[in-house]
This record gives sequence, C-alpha cells and structure tokens, in this order.
Amino acid sequence: MKQKNNGVVREVSNCRVCSSADLSVYLDLGMMPLANNLAATADDAKATNRYPMQVQYCHECWLSQLTIVIDPRELFSNYAYRSSISQAYVNHCRSMAKSLRDSLGLKGDDLVVDIAGNDGALLAVFKDELGVRVVNVDPAENLAEIATAAGVPTITRFWGSDAAAQVVAEYGKPKLITATNVFAHVDDVRSFVMAAKDCLSEDGALMLEFPYGVDFIEHREFDTVYFEHLSYVLLEPVRRLAVELGMAVFDVQKQEIHGGTIRVFIGKQGRHDVMPSVSEFIATEKREGYHDPDVYGDWNREIDALISDFVAEITTLKEGGAKIAAFAASAKGNTLLNACRFDENTVDYIVDDTPQKIGRFSPGTGIPIVDRTVLAEDPPDYLVILAWNFAKEIIASTAEFSADGGQYIIPIPAFKNIAPDGEA
Ligand SMILES: [Zn+2]
Repeated sequence: MKQKNNGVVREVSNCRVCSSADLSVYLDLGMMPLANNLAATADDAKATNRYPMQVQYCHECWLSQLTIVIDPRELFSNYAYRSSISQAYVNHCRSMAKSLRDSLGLKGDDLVVDIAGNDGALLAVFKDELGVRVVNVDPAENLAEIATAAGVPTITRFWGSDAAAQVVAEYGKPKLITATNVFAHVDDVRSFVMAAKDCLSEDGALMLEFPYGVDFIEHREFDTVYFEHLSYVLLEPVRRLAVELGMAVFDVQKQEIHGGTIRVFIGKQGRHDVMPSVSEFIATEKREGYHDPDVYGDWNREIDALISDFVAEITTLKEGGAKIAAFAASAKGNTLLNACRFDENTVDYIVDDTPQKIGRFSPGTGIPIVDRTVLAEDPPDYLVILAWNFAKEIIASTAEFSADGGQYIIPIPAFKNIAPDGEA
C-alpha cells in the first residue's frame, strides 16, 4: 500500500467486506485527533494532527466503517500502555474458557491460538482452566516478553498467512483461534479470515468477539468511534464474508461487556451444525431495520442532538459558576470531548489511573490528565463519567467525592445527572 501524506494510508471507497462502492456517510464528527497521542503540553495537545472522523454504512452488506485508514505506525506509536488486567476481565476469560470447552469439546492436547493476545492474559486462563496447548500471536515485543514469562509462548508477528504458516509449522493446526476486540481494528478482513481458515484443523473454529453494531446504534455509542476502530460490525457482513471464503458462521452469542459485544463462531463449511442463534440474530437485525438506510439517518440526527444537548447542559453549568472535571482519559472520552469542542476552560482536568498518562495532556482538547489525589484536593462540582461502561465502579471508587456533595454526569446514551443522594 502506498502511503499518502499525514499518515492516511487510504480512503475507504469500497466496502472492506463485500467491495461494494455503495457507501453512505451517516456520522461526521469533523476533524479529530488521534486518541492515543497524549502531549507534553496543552499547546502541543491542541496543535496535534487531525483527520476527518466519519462513519459510513455499506448498502450491500451493512458493514459500518470509517472513511479513512490511518497508518498503524502512526496510530500505535504512542500505544505503550499495557491494558491493565482487572479482576472483571479475568472472570470474563474464565467463563469464556469454560463455555468454549463445553461447546467445542476442547481437551488436553488441543491447540488454542489467540490473535493479538497482548500479554497472554486470556491464554494463561485457558491453559489453567482447560490444560490445552496455547500460542499467542502478537507483534508487540514488550508484551511478548511478559506473555512468555507467564508461560504463554508468543509469535511476535501481525496475524496473516505468514503467522498462520509459522503456527502450523511449529505447533500444528489449532482447534480454536480466538480474536477478541481485534476484528473491528483490521483493515484487510478477508486476508485475516483466510489466514485463520488455512491454519485451522478441519473441525476447528475461529471465534471473533467484537462490539456489536446493534448496540453501537441502539445505545448511541458514537464515542466508541476512533481511528483504531475501523469497522462497526453487524452479524450480516461477517456471515457474508465467511460464505465468500468457503466458511460458515455456526453460532453467535451475546456478551454484556464493553456496552454489548457478540461472540461469533466461524468454521469450514459443512463441518459444524449451524445453531438457530445465527438465523435469529440475522432476522432480528433485519426486523429492527439495521439492513435498511432509515435507521442510520435517524441515528445521525439523534447523535447531533445528543452532542448539542450535552454542550448546552455543560455550558449552562459552567456559566452558573460550576467547576467540571471528567473521569478516564480513554479513547472514548477523547472522542466525546473533541466532538463537543471542549478545552481546559470547560473541563478543568481528567482523572485517570494509568501512571503513563498522568501529567500529560489530552489530544485536541489540551485538558490536563491528573491522578485521583487531585479529585480530593481540588474537587469539581461535577464529574463527567466518560467511561460510562464502568460508571458503577467509578461511582463506587469515588465515594468521598460524592459524600462531599460532588455530582456525577453520565453523557451517554443521554445526559444524566446523578446527585449526591444517588437520585438521577
Ligand atoms: Zn459491504
């Protein structure tokens, strides 16, 4: 691929699943910064490069996708953070392992491969719970070291036909390949799935887990749009992709994490019984209008209203003399704050728990990122919960703030104020 200026690798004028050129933009957040480009000063943060952030749907297969692809080297150059492993995540991995053992009959000698398995957390659980053999495929050298030290062998490559061939040569054919929160970040999804097909044992399964496109629309999760997140995925485009590559989706399960994800099982055609869940999900998508342009037009208007209402509410509070801060300098929060065109004059600071982010400035907005001590020493009147999927945990862990009269604001799916007595 030829690289253009400014880190944009290409413009997406054909659907990455079905190649159709019949694409319509339905979300336009304007020029936005890269979410992970934290800066050393407020001025640097505001002067950071910006790119058009737009989402379009495909009239043929209904995949939603960004209109541009940014060079991964640009995107991930500041991506040094190791995703902190919460107990909730380990529990999620454990229940996934048990569920996969039961549905796929995984046992002793079977091989499980995790694509972009990070520091090996998922596979470590698989190894413990199921006693299976495991291999992590992840390009990040520093994470590979952590994974290997934890007993999870790691091939340091991007997933593709070369990595697949190396897995087969060194470990044999896997019975299961997992890719959690990876598929939506992949540009060339056809090569990605083909490499899995070439690698899998005859009765093996590729399991993709990704944020579900229905939840994205239904719960107005427009803040999950960022440049790493190339696709917003319904089941229909995945079903179609699988069929085109000689495979079949044979099961789908809903998971209630990260604002709603689905787990999709793909195998070689004719090798698995197809569960009723597959046709049920497709039928529901159709019935609820997700294979129809109207839903996307309505959503466009809803999101415009959501943003302007949020800006109006915050501006009114600010004009009344209130001090406002936010919680969690995540990619999500970055999208919301930049879509609202806020800066440090509106939001004084963002509280975060990641040591590498403290003392830096949020890209685009220039808002300083601070640790929790600031929340106690210099408390705001209102704390905007940007990481709304962790609202409960954040409220529970900032009890002193609310005990002293601090109030919470949850922006999505609609502006909500939680007073100190817990009343909305
Ligand atoms: Zn398409």
